[in-house]
Amino acid sequence: MIVVMKPEATTAEIAAVLRKAEELGVSTHPIYGETHTVIALVGDLTNITREVFDAMAGVQKTVRIEEPYKLAGRTTHPADTVIEVHGVTIGGPEVVVMAGPCSVESRQQIVETAIAVKEAGARILRGGAFKPRTSPYSFQGLGLRGLEYLAEAREVTGLPIITEVMTVDTVPLVAEYADILQIGARNMQNYGLLHAVGKLQKPVMLKRGISGSIKELLMCAEYIMSNGNYNVLLCERGIRTYETATRNTFDLNAVPVLQQLSHLPVVADPSHGTGKWELVGPMAKAAVAAGADALMIEVHPDPDAALSDGAQSLKPQRFADLMEELRRVAQAVDRTIASPTPLAEERPQAVVLG
Ligand code: PEP
Ligand code: MN
Repeated sequence: MIVVMKPEATTAEIAAVLRKAEELGVSTHPIYGETHTVIALVGDLTNITREVFDAMAGVQKTVRIEEPYKLAGRTTHPADTVIEVHGVTIGGPEVVVMAGPCSVESRQQIVETAIAVKEAGARILRGGAFKPRTSPYSFQGLGLRGLEYLAEAREVTGLPIITEVMTVDTVPLVAEYADILQIGARNMQNYGLLHAVGKLQKPVMLKRGISGSIKELLMCAEYIMSNGNYNVLLCERGIRTYETATRNTFDLNAVPVLQQLSHLPVVADPSHGTGKWELVGPMAKAAVAAGADALMIEVHPDPDAALSDGAQSLKPQRFADLMEELRRVAQAVDRTIASPTPLAEERPQAVVLG
């Protein structure tokens, strides 16, 4: 249920509604909009009638929400959510490109890649330090050392970093380093982990599960948001189907469907979506054309030697060329993509820091 306050509702009237809801045993999530304050009531509402709130001073109307994703859905929050990460705005007119290697492998590898993607116009650096691998014998990531190298790459380039957190016990450690926490596809429905990142205020990018429906993805976002963290990004990264020509089936439908159903920014990951570097460019362009708010693209200086996901990683020059093409697609759909930024010109101190 949502309680829509009148534009002229006073702070005391809003507080009275919040108190009433708490007396009735439901939790409240106020959303302070430009004109109205809307209060989402979440919990067991079966015995609560709309009239209870409709009769209160300052209330314009009370609406029952049919969708199970009350906080992630558009009904409660019609305007797009815009998430700010150290000067980068996700969910606005700019299509934000996040790029970097699948795994952080060494200081040199991550710093070199960070510089290359920054110069090509990427706005956020990606890199896994804790890796969810299909085999326990495959490279599992550098752990804490990987986080430290990511922080060094951020220092050199100024790019905020996104990295995956896999377990509840490592949430505080990863949150200390990451600017955006990534919940991987295999953990989409790890409810303990969703609760834990929901208690933070840092942005969280939630990847769609390998066999997760769009509704399930939104319900998982709801877990994070119901804990008070509204800074959630939804990521389409391909789903498992009967098709074997690609690693996953990149569900481009999910981009506009999620935008219809939810106000949260939508990220498209054509690297995991296809599993093949040759297909990353075409699907990245398609995702921008379809309206994605951000892209996640894997880039590696030497994909043949990569410790994970080399087959779907772009070389830095190919990534730079793709960014040029993406800028033209973005322009055609009234969006923008950041221009190339030679690092030496922008941050001369990087030489000292590096
Ligand atoms: C990744 O981003 O490297 C990753 C492991 O992604 P996913 O969880 O989508 O497989
Ligand atoms: Mn990967």
